[in-house]
Amino acid sequence: MLQQIKNLILDMDGVLWRGETPMPGLNHFFDTLRRRDINFVLATNNATQTAVQYTGKLARFGVTVPPSQIVTSAEATADYLRDEYAPGTAVYVVGEPGLHQALQAREFVICGAQEVRDGLVPALVVVGFNRHADYPLLAMAALAIHKGARFVGTNPDVTFPSEIGLMPGAGSLLAFLQTATDVQPTIVGKPGPIMFRQALKRLGGTTANTAMVGDRLNTDIAGAKAAGLRAILVLSGITQPEDIPANGAGPDWIFADISALAQVL
Ligand SMILES: [Mg+2]
Repeated sequence: MLQQIKNLILDMDGVLWRGETPMPGLNHFFDTLRRRDINFVLATNNATQTAVQYTGKLARFGVTVPPSQIVTSAEATADYLRDEYAPGTAVYVVGEPGLHQALQAREFVICGAQEVRDGLVPALVVVGFNRHADYPLLAMAALAIHKGARFVGTNPDVTFPSEIGLMPGAGSLLAFLQTATDVQPTIVGKPGPIMFRQALKRLGGTTANTAMVGDRLNTDIAGAKAAGLRAILVLSGITQPEDIPANGAGPDWIFADISALAQVL
């Protein structure tokens, strides 16, 4: 069954590295993919860093992956919106540089809080993780959504782990705005189907010959299965063996880590 897989969508944190530490066998894993002619893209819900920054991180670990093979939820959001809106469309952004750059690169025009306060209604309000979001920034997002701007979120992650414990993530900002406006956002990142479709498109793959490799059951694995893809769980990240459902709703394959996966590819 694994022999049918010609394309892999790879989650990054918990799969390729943990924080700033590469997984053992990282180089060998990518060598194996290239030797076996298995295409891959890297896909992350993290919208704060650009594909170029991830290429740099991988280069520090001795692995060459061009930005064209890296899909962040910021890039996936910008690609998705690019297909639906004309160049020059006004967008209000609650996000970090990765999201701003992805939207600007696709010719969206980013408007500021003062312009919204002065009466401009952007076509879109796009919200990603933002460590500097304050009330004035969020209030103008809510105002624009109230006035009819479409509400879009990069990813639904409510929390993310830090050295001192769980911190509020993009999903918490989305919840704030959803409560304030009573409007539900379109969410691009995992486990929603949009990012998986974007990754499939970049790979030129089909649901039959493409598998997701991830460490989170509720995003990587559940999302892949919902999108019709095969799912490979690695136990090198957030998921412990006892978390795996016994009812068969979980991953198609389970490996300790990418080194164990490389042995059967
Ligand atoms: Mg992960």
